[in-house]
Amino acid sequence: MNRRDEIRQKALKDLQRLEVLMVNGHFDFGNGYHGRVYLNPHQLFRHPSTIWRFAQDLLDVLPGSVLDETEVVAGPVTGGALLAHTIAGLLDSRREITRPPTLFAPLTTDAVTGHSLSRFYRQQVKGRRVLLVDDVRNTGQTLARCAAVVRDSGGTVLATAEIYDRMEAIIELDVPNVALAEYKAPENYPASACPLCASGVPVTTF
Ligand SMILES: [Zn+2]
Repeated sequence: MNRRDEIRQKALKDLQRLEVLMVNGHFDFGNGYHGRVYLNPHQLFRHPSTIWRFAQDLLDVLPGSVLDETEVVAGPVTGGALLAHTIAGLLDSRREITRPPTLFAPLTTDAVTGHSLSRFYRQQVKGRRVLLVDDVRNTGQTLARCAAVVRDSGGTVLATAEIYDRMEAIIELDVPNVALAEYKAPENYPASACPLCASGVPVTTF
C-alpha cells in the first residue's frame, strides 16, 4: 500500500474513533427513517486540534502541483471555511518563508444564489489560483456553486478537496476532487420496515 492510501485508511478509522462517522449503529433520523450510519461533522470542529490533524492529512494526499500552485484556499461557511482557514495556514508552514502567504476566503450563504463572496474577498480571489475545500461532500452541489462564485470573481479553481466524501455526488466539476476519506452508507429504511427494529436492536443514543 502506498503512503497516500495508508493516510486515507487511517483517516477513515480516526473519523470513526472520534465519532464523526458512526457506521454500526441504529439511528433514528427523526424524519421517519432509520439507518446504520450517522455523520456528525460538528465533531470535526469541537476540538480545534482535530481539524488541524485532518487538514495535515488532507495536505498529505493532495497532489504536489496543487499544493505548489494554490494562492487562495476558499470554503463555504461554516465547516468549509474553518477548514480552508486551517489549510491556508498549514500550507505556509510547508513552504519557503520568502513566498507570499496563502490567502483565505470564506464563501457565505446567500438566500438568492446559495453562496457568495463579499466584495473584499472577491478582490482577494481575482486573478488567483484557488483550492476549494469543504468538510463533507454530499451531492457536490455546494462545491459546484462555490466554484461558480470563484470563477465569477475572476479566480481559477485548481481542485476541490474534502475531509469526507459520502460518495453520493451527482455533480462532478471539471477539476480534480480529492477526498481524505470516503464511505458510502447503505440505504436507510422507513421506520416501519426497519430490520434493526424488527430484530430488537436498541436505537443508538449519544
Ligand atoms: Zn429501526
